[in-house]
Amino acid sequence: MAIATINPATGETLKTFEPHSAAQIEEILARADAANALMRATTFAQRSAWMHAAADLMDAELDRVAGLASTEMGKTIGTAKYEVTKSANGMRHYADHAEEYLADETPVEASTVGASAARVVFQPIGTILAVMPWNYPFWQVIRFAAPALMAGNTGLLKHASSVPQTALYLGELFERAGFPAGAFQTLLVEGAAASKLIDDRRIKGVTLTGSVGAGSAVAEAAGRNVKKSVLELGGTDVFVVMPSADVAKSAEFGANSRTQNSGQSCICAKRFYVHEDVYDEWFAAFLAKMEATTGGDPFDPATGFGPMATEQVRAEAHELVEDAKAKGVTVHTGGELPSGPGWFYPSTVFTDVTPEMRIYREECFGPVACVYRVSSVEEAIERSNDSDFGLAASVWTTDPAELARLQEGLEFGAVFANGNTASFFGLPFGGVKDSGYGRELGRFGIREFVNTKTVWEA
Ligand code: NDP
Repeated sequence: MAIATINPATGETLKTFEPHSAAQIEEILARADAANALMRATTFAQRSAWMHAAADLMDAELDRVAGLASTEMGKTIGTAKYEVTKSANGMRHYADHAEEYLADETPVEASTVGASAARVVFQPIGTILAVMPWNYPFWQVIRFAAPALMAGNTGLLKHASSVPQTALYLGELFERAGFPAGAFQTLLVEGAAASKLIDDRRIKGVTLTGSVGAGSAVAEAAGRNVKKSVLELGGTDVFVVMPSADVAKSAEFGANSRTQNSGQSCICAKRFYVHEDVYDEWFAAFLAKMEATTGGDPFDPATGFGPMATEQVRAEAHELVEDAKAKGVTVHTGGELPSGPGWFYPSTVFTDVTPEMRIYREECFGPVACVYRVSSVEEAIERSNDSDFGLAASVWTTDPAELARLQEGLEFGAVFANGNTASFFGLPFGGVKDSGYGRELGRFGIREFVNTKTVWEA
């Protein structure tokens, strides 16, 4: 994929970028390698001050920075500002909590292991490569960069080829805030070239957020080189509505979840399992909200959601829609490719989705909802779990026994009750099955790329 800023609202190529040459890549790797010694010599307090400074820079540059995201990947300006502010606050979270998250631990009494002293310390491991997607072009990067830098590691960002200006901004941000030269840099390289970087002995680990295909390519290279990897690969997330739920609220939240970021969110609801006792009422409210949420100019504050990020992502989503239509799905709204410029796609609602349709199992990264009727909590759990993915589930019920059963039975990395799935600074984020492995955020996230070292003294 060419490295370029293409305005998704118009399809116009605004700026193209040459990938870094072999010599430039070597220079960047050498700078990162040299920065490790400098980073190891810093204290939490120093890193925290620089991280706060980086967060303050993002806040001060909010309008310009949010405009970059809207221009490069089409999200509405309001959601872009929210994302940039969230990113700055996520940096502050790690600036304030990293030392506590990585404090020494004494899991056993020293005498029980024949020692006078025994503890566990958490030390940086060096340069980590981050292969990142375009859908939350700031937040996806920051939730890697903030813990990595606060742990004393250095970072290399290989961002999606469709968001190069965002990538270059992030590649300069941390040095501008005071971090040592080379602590966090951007590499302009295309997808497949990123996997080759993992062979370099100076890269100590890799994290990727994106598709299963890209994730398995990166994990394969990491495995061959015996390097740690973390994968966050999206999902076909579920939204379960039981009879005791607040029907109106859950219908509204469900539609918001499916259309947020033009449906291009790993944890937004894609499969809706609604109990038959409330199905008709819920479906009518959901459909009305989906029909009322429409795409438009991302810079117009009245727009519900912007265009899809790239021509390819829209084509992939529409392919799933066309396949379902050819196999007899019922289309309640949407499902047609709009004419005109840009990569817009309408809110789409399907029922009668059957297992032979690709959309039954595959992730649809667009505002397309598949709604199913269920007759019990057990059926909702069984059908939710009948998926290759397992990232996050949103369940709606006020019955405590039913909620406990859903929390226990759903094979997902997170179960949210009576609210939409989201990422929070202090809570782990990640999935099971094809949704990946490892966790981002909170204490769990910062401990992914450290040497958990046992220190024992006779
Ligand atoms: P990709 O997985 O192709 O892109 C994500 C990142 O991986 C980009 O930086 C990309 O670089 C890079 N990449 C691609 N191929 C390789 C490779 N072989 N080795 C190393 N890095 C690679 O996602 P797409 O943008 O093509 O989107 C396709 C689908 O992926 C979506 O429809 C959605 O299902 C899923 N996805 C999930 C996301 C999530 O949040 N979990 C985010 C984005 C996508 P480059 O841009 O240069 O190709």
